[in-house]
Amino acid sequence: MSELARDAYIDGRWEPGSRRFVVRDPYDDALIAEVTDSDDAVVDAAIDAAARAFRTWRTRPGAERGKLLGQLATCMLADERRLGELCVRENGKALKEAIAEVRYAASFFTWFAGEAERAYGEVIPASNPGQRLVVTREPVGPCALITPWNFPYAMLTRKIGAALAAGCTVVAKPAELTPLGALAIAELAHAVGIPPGVINVVPSAHAKQVGARLLASPAIRKLSFTGSTAVGRQLLEAAAHDIKRVSLELGGNAPFVVLGDADVSAAVAGAVVAKFRNGGQSCVAANRFIVEASVQDAFIAGLLPAVARLVLGRGSDPGVDLGPLVDDASVAKVKRLVDDAIAKGARVLHGTSPTRASGPGARLVAPVVLADITPAMALWREEIFGPVIAIRTAADEADALAQANDTEYGLVAYVFTRDGARQTRFIEGLETGMVGVNDGLVSTAQAPFGGIKHSGLGREGSRHGLDDYTQLKYAAIRVS
Ligand code: NAP
Repeated sequence: MSELARDAYIDGRWEPGSRRFVVRDPYDDALIAEVTDSDDAVVDAAIDAAARAFRTWRTRPGAERGKLLGQLATCMLADERRLGELCVRENGKALKEAIAEVRYAASFFTWFAGEAERAYGEVIPASNPGQRLVVTREPVGPCALITPWNFPYAMLTRKIGAALAAGCTVVAKPAELTPLGALAIAELAHAVGIPPGVINVVPSAHAKQVGARLLASPAIRKLSFTGSTAVGRQLLEAAAHDIKRVSLELGGNAPFVVLGDADVSAAVAGAVVAKFRNGGQSCVAANRFIVEASVQDAFIAGLLPAVARLVLGRGSDPGVDLGPLVDDASVAKVKRLVDDAIAKGARVLHGTSPTRASGPGARLVAPVVLADITPAMALWREEIFGPVIAIRTAADEADALAQANDTEYGLVAYVFTRDGARQTRFIEGLETGMVGVNDGLVSTAQAPFGGIKHSGLGREGSRHGLDDYTQLKYAAIRVS
C-alpha cells in the first residue's frame, strides 16, 4: 500500500474501503495523500458504530467526557506545529494562520470540556402542590457533521466538542479538498482513549452520496452542516423527511461599516484582519466595505499601504501572509467578480484582476482594492471568498445601515464608530447574528457563533452551543 494512503476512521479502526481519491497541495498540485473514498458500505459501518457507541457514551458522566475532551485539546496544542504544517499543505493558508487555527480549534475542546459538566436541567415550581416538574437535558443521538475546507480543524472541533460534551456520537464528513485535518483529529482522539465509535470520519469525493446516506439513516438524529447556503438548503430539505435536528452555518456577505467619527487607524487594522484572514476565504470575511463619505479618503489613505505590505507566497514560507486560493474555481470566481465590477464602473485603487497562470503558485491571488462599488455589481450580492476589498460610499449613518442590511445573508457585520449611541443603534439595527464593534475578529469559543436569514440556523460555541446537541425531557412527578 502507498505510504500516502489515509483511511477512514470507523469504530476505533482505520478502514481502507474499496476506492480512493487524491489530495493535492493547492500551491503546486503536489500529491499529498490518497484517501479512502467512503462508499455506502463504509458510511453504513460508521453510522452503526456511532449508534452502538451512543448507548454507553451518553451514560458516561459529563465530567468524564469533559476530561477526554480536555486531553484532546492538550494533544492538539502539543502537536500544533505538525498540525499547522498539515493544514498548510492541504489548504494552502499561511503557516502562522494554520497554527492560529489549530489553537482556535483546540479551544473548542477546552471550552466544551467545561460545558460537559454544566448541562443543567431545571425544577419548575408547580401550581399543583402534589407535583414536581423536572426538566433534564439529554443528548440528541448520533450526529452527522459535514464541514468545509476553509478551516479544516476549527469547523470540525466546534461541532465535535459540543456533540461529545452533550453525550452524542458523530460521523464526520470533511471536505474533499481537506480531509487530512479531520483524520489527524481522529488519530489524536484515538490516542487519548476516546472510545471506539464515538468519533467516526468518512472522507469522500462523493459528498452528495454520503450526505444522502447519512440523512436517510434513522439512526442519525441530527445534522450539523457548515458550508454554502445552496447545499445547506438541500440538506435541510432532505432532513425534513425524518424530522432530524439541523444546525446550519452557511454563507455570509459581511458589511464592514466605517462611520465618519471612526478611529481610522483602528478601522484599517480591523479591515485587514476581517478581510485577509485565510486570504478572504472565510464566511466572516468582510465582503462589502461601506464607508461614510466624510472619512473615505482618510480610510483609503491608511488602507492602501497596509494592503501593499501583505506578502503573497507559499503558505509554509517565512513571512507569508496570503497563500494560494484553494482551487481553480475559487480563482475564477474572484476574477469574474472583479472583472464584472470593473466593467460596471468600479475604480481600481490597488492590484489587478487575477490572471490565469499555470505551474507552482498559479493560484496566488494578490489583493485588489476597488472603490465606487454599486449594488448592480455581482460582488455586492455574492461572497467574494478572496482578497478583494470593495468600497461603497455611504451618505450618512442611515444610508450606511440600509446598505449593510441590503443582503439576504445575516452572519456578521462590523461597524467602526467612537459614538456609543451609534454603536447601540447599529448593534440593534443590523440584521446579523454577530456584530464586531471596532473589532475585525469576533470568533471565539466562549461566544455564540452563527447567523440569521440565509446564513443559517443554530449557534456554535458558548454555553448555547450545547443546546443544539441536547433535547429537553420534562417529567411531571406526582408526589402526593
Ligand atoms: P460547500 O460546497 O457547501 O461544501 C461544504 C461541505 O459540504 C463539504 O464537505 C462538501 O463536500 C459538502 N457537500 C457539498 N455538496 C454536498 C451535498 N450535496 N450533500 C452533502 N454534502 C455536500 O461549501 P464550500 O464551498 O466547501 O465552503 C465554503 C462555504 O462555506 C462558504 O459559503 C462559506 O461562507 C461557508 N462557511 C460558513 C461558515 C459558518 O460558520 N457560517 C464557516 C465556514 C464556511 P465536498 O467538499 O467534498 O464537495
